[in-house]
Amino acid sequence: MSATSVTSQVFKFGGAALCNADAIKNVVQIIAEHPSRALVVVVSAMGKMTNQLEKLIEAHTTDDVKRRDTELEIFFKYHDDIVNNLFELQSHPVYQDIHNLKTTMRWSLDEHLSSADAVYDQLIVFGELFSSTIVFHALCLNRINAHYVDIRNVFKTDDHYRDAAVDLDYSEARAIEVIQPLLSNHIVVTQGFIGSTSDNYSTSLGREGSDYSAALLANFLNAQQLTVWKDVPGVLNADPRYFQNARLIEQLNYQDAVELTYYGATVLHPKTIKPLQNKAIPLYVRSFLDLNHTGTCISNYAYATYKPKSSYILKKNLVLITAQRNDLSFITEAHISMIYHLLWMKRAKIHVMQISAVSFSFCCDRFTDMDTFIEELSHSYTVKYNSPVQLLTIRNYQESKSAQVLEGKTILLEQRSRQTCQFVLPDDV
Ligand code: ADP
Ligand code: ASP
Ligand code: MG
Repeated sequence: MSATSVTSQVFKFGGAALCNADAIKNVVQIIAEHPSRALVVVVSAMGKMTNQLEKLIEAHTTDDVKRRDTELEIFFKYHDDIVNNLFELQSHPVYQDIHNLKTTMRWSLDEHLSSADAVYDQLIVFGELFSSTIVFHALCLNRINAHYVDIRNVFKTDDHYRDAAVDLDYSEARAIEVIQPLLSNHIVVTQGFIGSTSDNYSTSLGREGSDYSAALLANFLNAQQLTVWKDVPGVLNADPRYFQNARLIEQLNYQDAVELTYYGATVLHPKTIKPLQNKAIPLYVRSFLDLNHTGTCISNYAYATYKPKSSYILKKNLVLITAQRNDLSFITEAHISMIYHLLWMKRAKIHVMQISAVSFSFCCDRFTDMDTFIEELSHSYTVKYNSPVQLLTIRNYQESKSAQVLEGKTILLEQRSRQTCQFVLPDDV
């Protein structure tokens, strides 16, 4: 099947770009000034509304009705304030749409589902549903020919709630069927992060997943490019929250981008790059605050022609565990696979590991029943651990600069490969 009839572009706006009425006006202006009308606009929830929904869900699943209602009111009021600011006319259709969403949301609270994760997904989607409804109407108000698409009718997923896998073939066919024809004369506004099962239960693709949704749509529609609009000038060589003097990386190849996001550069969801690389679609990471700069372009750059900057990535809130055989026998593949299996059952992700003759050290995310895990492990191993720790990854490192960054720091574990070095440090900053 071919999706090349209209050459489209995909824009993705995250929470920071949509955090209040002025921010939304800015988004409308960015879209209005863009020369291409064949545009798919993917939005995530406004501001920190997904976190707000998580509070609501927590209260709901623990039957704390009073707190649940308070959290629900906070969620509603946040959107009401934005709507009241953007749409003066009380008869504007946005008010009816928001009213309908509130009603549906209240119904979802009365639904009885077997798993907490399924309940979570029926509610978490409302951040994106409110946001896309408001952005759609804001575009129409500014005489932009927009069309609203509920992506749950396009992205079909399995029922692995909170981390659902998209059925790529089916969803691609649906994107071509539903979205592609609209692009000849509409700007399509839709949601990131969400989908639905074949039984039409809502699902979510994992926190921060709307970059990934946008990349999938770009792939399905053979888009010319994807632009994600952020509150930073582009991909920087370090997270500006932790490193002063972080510098913009103007060009990045897909491989470096995958590695950076995998190690913890949270500016992009790690799954974003693959769908783009597969079709050689460039990804622009740009600032919605400064339209004069093109930001970072992530593309097929060959190492011969492009010189990647050293990048510093910090992953926090991890645990470093060392397991040593009690009887001083060697650590074998069987031991490692047993430990890996236990971790896999807990869904804890290993970020670094190191093996010596009699011990196995690994650094992984902290997980809820870590104590039980350590107790289980202690039956056969002497276990030591440090928690919390942080993992500093330096990609394309230079010895002298790395030494500067590490000056005065206690290194708990260290590992180097040709392009990357990693250090586990106490998480005391
Ligand atoms: P969105 O609004 O699309 O959800 P995010 O908040 O997820 O955007 O991503 C932008 C944030 O990512 C920035 O505000 C910044 O703090 C953080 N960040 C982490 N690592 C980097 C990096 N290497 N370059 C730029 N920003 C980074
Ligand atoms: N709104 C979702 C979240 O906060 C998805 C996203 O922002 O990418 O995780
Ligand atoms: Mg995000």
